[in-house]
Amino acid sequence: MAHLNKIFKTCLKPSLRAFSSTPSSIGYNFELSDSQREIHELIKKFVKDEIIPKAAHYDKTGEYPWPIFKGMWKLGLANRHIPAEFGNTELTAFESGLIDEELGFGCSGIQTAVSGTNLGQAPIIMAANKEQKKKYLGRLIDEPIVAAYAVTEPSGGSDVNAVRTKAEKKGDEYILNGQKMWITNGGVANWYFVLARTHPDPKCPANKAFTGFIVERDWPGVIPGRKEQNMGQRASDTRGITFEDVRIPKENVLIGEGAGFKIAMSTFDKTRPSVAAAATGLAARALHEASKYALERKAFGVPIAHHQAIAFKLADMAINVELARLGWKKGAWETDCGIRNSYSASIAKCFAGDIANQCASDAVQIFGGNGFNSEYPVEKLMRDAKIFQIYEGTAEIQRLVISRHILSAAKDLA
Ligand SMILES: Cc1cc2nc3c(=O)[nH]c(=O)nc-3n(C[C@H](O)[C@H](O)[C@H](O)COP(=O)(O)OP(=O)(O)OC[C@H]3O[C@@H](n4cnc5c(N)ncnc54)[C@H](O)[C@@H]3O)c2cc1C
Repeated sequence: MAHLNKIFKTCLKPSLRAFSSTPSSIGYNFELSDSQREIHELIKKFVKDEIIPKAAHYDKTGEYPWPIFKGMWKLGLANRHIPAEFGNTELTAFESGLIDEELGFGCSGIQTAVSGTNLGQAPIIMAANKEQKKKYLGRLIDEPIVAAYAVTEPSGGSDVNAVRTKAEKKGDEYILNGQKMWITNGGVANWYFVLARTHPDPKCPANKAFTGFIVERDWPGVIPGRKEQNMGQRASDTRGITFEDVRIPKENVLIGEGAGFKIAMSTFDKTRPSVAAAATGLAARALHEASKYALERKAFGVPIAHHQAIAFKLADMAINVELARLGWKKGAWETDCGIRNSYSASIAKCFAGDIANQCASDAVQIFGGNGFNSEYPVEKLMRDAKIFQIYEGTAEIQRLVISRHILSAAKDLA
């Protein structure tokens, strides 16, 4: 934290920070400000020294990377968006994206593990009152602990309107019962954002039926399940959580009864650019590893990079990485400008998720048989990439958001 404060003290002049984060009178600008450049250098060094050498260990063991999280917390890079009034060096979505891209380059499993707390925090930053923020965000500043976002259930994640977990009001409390599934940081979080149905009528519209709560991990009746053994991103802690008669004080309701669906959904506008940035980082790593290998590996007497089929594959990977980077930057820039960005955030997340998978698969192809083996780095990239087309809204759900947006614009013109 001291380190980040120093960067901001020495570099943070509003005119400089304005680059890439707020609308500028000269229009598009692709240059980082001095403070952004320093944050970028800081995270690049951290990834090189602390993450890349340890990524294989966390992938094999599935341990939660606490030492890495604590290192980031000390540097002030863990809690990106907690407002400055609670003692944080608040970063913009754009700056957070710079961090997530580098983390994704180093190990996207560790990225999900250490950045997942920002997803848990987002609804609280957006919708909590001052006391709630002070209590729950303040904790994350005082200690290196994490939060989680608990919306998905065993019966489904895409259709949030089908959430069955219920909270019934009894006096000054709500009694929470139900089950969540696939919760990142589920077993390690100190508290969760939980979406639950509070309206008894199953036909009640989504914008009235659900309420958002802050639920503490240590409360009686909160029961995290076993750590799930996933295909990739194994450093990340994914679990189901059961709630059995959990008593939530009414002070832990966000905004009020019925406001939960909007809070849960608006969260993604803020977080999808960061997920896209991490996917871009993974794609960039695939390109980096494949380019190095293509120059070293020989076939038919020449480095395989001299075969046009391989060189063009690398070119296509580079095109996709560059475009994905522009995509997340636009989504994050809109967040920072206060522009409604559901459309650009979905485009960024969808495209980066798809091309991360394409690039990882192409890298495995370029490595040939070696690519299929866990002694080489690209097999892990291919396993890790898949989740980018699933969590924070599947590739299909992103296309649903994008198509709804363009069709509604077309209707307005008709
Ligand atoms: C590792 C991991 C971490 C996660 N972390 C979290 C977390 O921290 N918090 C949290 O709340 N959730 C989390 N999730 C849940 C994740 O967001 C859901 O898995 C995702 O939203 C999809 O839901 P589902 O798995 O139930 O699939 P379903 O909703 O059952 O969908 C199955 C398939 O049908 C498609 N589909 C569904 N509806 C439509 C439609 N209308 N049109 C077209 N296709 C459709 C989907 O795209 C998908 O291909 C995580 C999941 C994983 C695997």
